[in-house]
Amino acid sequence: MADALATIDIQSCRGCARHHPLPEGRWPGGHCCGGKTLSIFSPEEVAAVKLGGTRPRDWRPPQSDHAGCVFRGPTGCSLEPEDRPSICLRYLCLELREELRAGPEWETVSRLGAALRDTDAALRALMDGD
Ligand code: SF4
Repeated sequence: MADALATIDIQSCRGCARHHPLPEGRWPGGHCCGGKTLSIFSPEEVAAVKLGGTRPRDWRPPQSDHAGCVFRGPTGCSLEPEDRPSICLRYLCLELREELRAGPEWETVSRLGAALRDTDAALRALMDGD
């Protein structure tokens, strides 16, 4: 998903947090990363990245002011895509969704997002004992 999005010159994420109150408004972009770290890194998300091979030392926060999620810095997320929670990779706000829908990458991005969502749901069911 990260590779697919990296091929696109995305505009939506550059200024979406401008004029918002803190912590979201700390940096111009990345409003969706202004949430609470503990809410984003749920037990299921932590289990998923651990199963994927992420180690605690892979989680290095940026040396910058607090801006919501502890890994949100002035230039974006300080984590490698494979070390991020699934929600960080598949979440597309309405503005970004609209932007992507207009391009040829939409089919790939939506298919990968659905696969991530299904995998997340399967892991949650497993952890719930369903
Ligand atoms: S881990 Fe990275 S992508 Fe996810 S909310 Fe935090 S800063 Fe944003």
